Amino acid sequence: MSGTDMKLVVVGAAGRMGQTLIRTINAVPGATLFAAVERPGSAFIGRDAGEIAGLGPTGVTITDKPLEAFVEAEGVLDFTSPAASVEFSGLAAQARIVHVIGTTGCSADDEAKFNAAARHARIVKSGNMSLGVNLLGVLTEQAARALGPENWDIEILEMHHKHKVDAPSGTALLLGGAAAKGRDIGLAEHSVRVRDGHTGARVAGTIGFATLRGGSVIGEHSVILAGEGEQVTLSHSATDRAIFARGAVTAALWARNQKPGFYSMLDVLGLS
Ligand code: NAD
Repeated sequence: MSGTDMKLVVVGAAGRMGQTLIRTINAVPGATLFAAVERPGSAFIGRDAGEIAGLGPTGVTITDKPLEAFVEAEGVLDFTSPAASVEFSGLAAQARIVHVIGTTGCSADDEAKFNAAARHARIVKSGNMSLGVNLLGVLTEQAARALGPENWDIEILEMHHKHKVDAPSGTALLLGGAAAKGRDIGLAEHSVRVRDGHTGARVAGTIGFATLRGGSVIGEHSVILAGEGEQVTLSHSATDRAIFARGAVTAALWARNQKPGFYSMLDVLGLS
């Protein structure tokens, strides 16, 4: 660790992504684990963050006092739950630091609160922090623009592990948003999130979603553009959660030099 390393707090430190973030910060130059936070009542409070992440002791003890950690830190990496992320964005704004939000399943009301917090915090939020998925979003936008709604139907298929609590995934919604942007339409008015029973024929110009859950799948996504007599499929497979954690640390280091505001991974990766 050097004196110029960015001091980062991992919230949700005992979670699947929290543990991956702790290992990634340890491996990436320029960043250091300053504090680790879990929810009040968690059995992990008081434990060493490195030990639970499989690194051995790091001297950072997991706490349930986020603000105390934030005021001394420079950035927060947050893959928790929508309610927790809303709370953390208010605290990050108070502390005037970087808040990287990977949490998915957030409502429009939650998004409005993140936008309000971004007046003082530097927020980077994305339903997927990996380079590969963000590139896939750019390709999806191009494909949707080139292959128009008269002859081409867009369907987004995703599969995740059995513990995932929200659907469709943040990544599927990110890809749907990219397709809608390419077609110059709003996703909310054109998406079909569920089909069941006698649905009638497919409405032209809609963007359909299909969700699979099971086992330990980290994340599989396909954007299927189906035409008459031909089909184009763009897809991404995640085999290691470290891709999201590396993206989150990259986002924090990038946002350190930005003004307060609301940014996406496309801004971080120069793909916007
Ligand atoms: P998880 O359930 O394994 O971990 C979440 C952790 O957050 C838990 O340990 C929980 O105790 C903790 N937590 C909840 N409320 C808290 C609070 N108030 N204070 C502190 N800690 C709190 O889940 P996970 O698989 O790690 O996923 C977490 C989130 O990240 C989900 O929304 C998931 O969809 C999302 N995710 C996003 C990306 C991305 O690239 N954007 C990638 C993977 C997962």
